[in-house]
Parts: sequence; C-alpha cells; structure tokens
Amino acid sequence: MPRIPALRNRLKDNPVTGVKRVLLAAPRGYCAGVDRAVIAVEKALERFGAPVYVRKQIVHNIHVVSTLEKKGAIFVDEVGEVPEGSHIVFSAHGVSPKVVADAADRSLEAIDATCPLVTKVHREAVRFARDDFEILLIGHEGHEEVEGTMGHAPERTTLINSPADVASLQVKDPDNLVWLSQTTLSVDETMETVRMLRERFPNLHNPPSDDICYATQNRQVAIKKVAEEAELVIVVGSANSSNTVRLVDVALENGATAAYRVDYANEIQQAWLDGVATVGVTSGASVPEVLVQEVLDDLADAGYGDVRQVVTAEEDLMFSLPKELRKDAAGAPDSRGLGGRNRRLDWQG
Ligand code: SF4
Repeated sequence: MPRIPALRNRLKDNPVTGVKRVLLAAPRGYCAGVDRAVIAVEKALERFGAPVYVRKQIVHNIHVVSTLEKKGAIFVDEVGEVPEGSHIVFSAHGVSPKVVADAADRSLEAIDATCPLVTKVHREAVRFARDDFEILLIGHEGHEEVEGTMGHAPERTTLINSPADVASLQVKDPDNLVWLSQTTLSVDETMETVRMLRERFPNLHNPPSDDICYATQNRQVAIKKVAEEAELVIVVGSANSSNTVRLVDVALENGATAAYRVDYANEIQQAWLDGVATVGVTSGASVPEVLVQEVLDDLADAGYGDVRQVVTAEEDLMFSLPKELRKDAAGAPDSRGLGGRNRRLDWQG
C-alpha cells in the first residue's frame, strides 16, 4: 500500500532522557494460517475470476480485507447472501457444519480456508462429544472461531467467556469434563481460568495438546520480552483481531507503561511519545509486514531510527493450500501449493 505523502513527517523528534530506540518483536505479523487463507482468496480470484465471495473477514485485518475487495472479493456475513452456484471461501476462523450444509444447499462451490490449527480443535470437540464428555470451551462470546467450534458439538459445549464465569458454572457430571480453548487467547489468562476450573472440578481433563496456537504463543512471548524494557508498546492490528488485542494486554501486564493498538501508522499520537526513550513494536498474526514498516518509518521521523529486533523464536511453518486450490486449472499441481511466504528479517538484535 503506497503511503499518502501528507501523512508522513507528522511526528516531531522531541528530546527525551536517554537514547531513543525501537525494540521490534520477532516473531510478529503473519502466521501460517493467515498467509494460507489470504493466498487462498488470491488464488480463487486468479482461478475462477471475480467476484469470489468470502464468508466473514478472511482474517481480522481491515487492510487485508480492503486490499482483497479491490481485487474482486466480496465479503458477506452469511452464505444466504451469495448467489447460487458461486464460489465462496470460508475464513481462517472456521465454520460450523451448519454453514457447510447451508452452502451446499445453495450449490455454492466452497473453498475451506479454515486454519488447520482451528480444524484440530473442531476435531477434538467432535471426538470428546462422541465420547460423552461435556466440553468447557474457553473463548470469547461472538468470536467467529468460537461459533464454529461450538457448532461442532452444540449440545455438549459450554462457553467460558472469562475467569469470572467459573464460579457460577453448572455442569452435569463433574467427573466427565474436558476444557478446550479458542486458538488466540492470552496464555496466562487461559491458564488462570483452567486453574480455577480445576479447583472446582479436580477431575477436569486436559486437551491432548495446546489449543492456543504456536503463533499466538510466540507473539506473546516476544512482546513480553520487549515490554520488560519498553515504556511504550505499539501493536499493529485491527480491533476485532483477538490475538492483536491480547498483545496489548500482555504488554501492559509485563512492564510496558502504555500500550496502544493501531491499524495504521498515522494513528500514532505525538503525546504517546512524550518522555519515551524505548518504544516496543509488534503486530498481530493477521498483519502484513508493510504496515509495521510504516510504523517504523514514522517512528524514525520522531527520532526512533535505531531499531533492534528482539528474537524469541524462528517460525517456518507452512500449510498446504485448501484442497480445492492445490491443482491448477489443467489439473497439474500448483506451484504455490503451500501457504506461507518466507518473511525476511530486516534487523537482528
Ligand atoms: S493465529 Fe493461529 S489458529 Fe489463527 S490462523 Fe494463525 S496459526 Fe491459525
């Protein structure tokens, strides 16, 4: 996205005590599931032509959504809004079996871009429901991922929206409970909720592996390290992105005096920088790196040109594209059969 020239050089290089610098968290930005979902829409547009319909935001980032809209994607809330026989992409957050059935009823050509790590949670829900467990799903009410997961075992799932829900929770059989979670929660808050659940229900079963995904966990670990030294943390990402909002919380809980979320660099306010020597920067799992670069450009204008990367993990996970897109129009394997673009690390701390 080209910068609007008038929006550069807004921030002043005011003096502070100490040396001005930026600590840039790594990993940050795109995860393998987001990358795969965005490429899926791009490839669907290439393969089938515009318009391609997408149920809900493909990933929770307004820049990504508006860029895909310009290329011919049409975002809808429900499959009922899509003309019969059209192509529809299901978002990275996943869908319930009812949505899949509704799409089939309308003869839609569905491309399922659900992140494989969300699909893993769906499978766990189905298996535990089949084994007669009552599922306690830790997650945020109304989030698309939660709706999709609950839809896989609607009769057997109870949502735990916050630790405060635990005290009043009623269950059918305290010895037959398992907890699962949304993939993008705060690790620390989720573990606290589990601790409270176990206090009430000592025989609570654990999921077979972490539901909070590697990308959410890695970004939280990195911003914790940065927040120990940064007075101000800027998190790039959209307000409806759960993992982005959690990064703001985690920064505040781990030493940052202030932390703000911005969609775009031009939302940074001069007052945030008053007296700040060290600024931490990170981005949510659905944020393209170009938006982070623009934040760094604006911070450089304000005297924060010294950028050091704080690396707490390297990521190289890639997922196969949805099966509907793995072959080209002639039936040959597609050269971009994998989601995941190598992310260049521009600075090393
Ligand atoms: S944040 Fe995690 S679960 Fe969500 S799309 Fe990325 S890898 Fe998948």
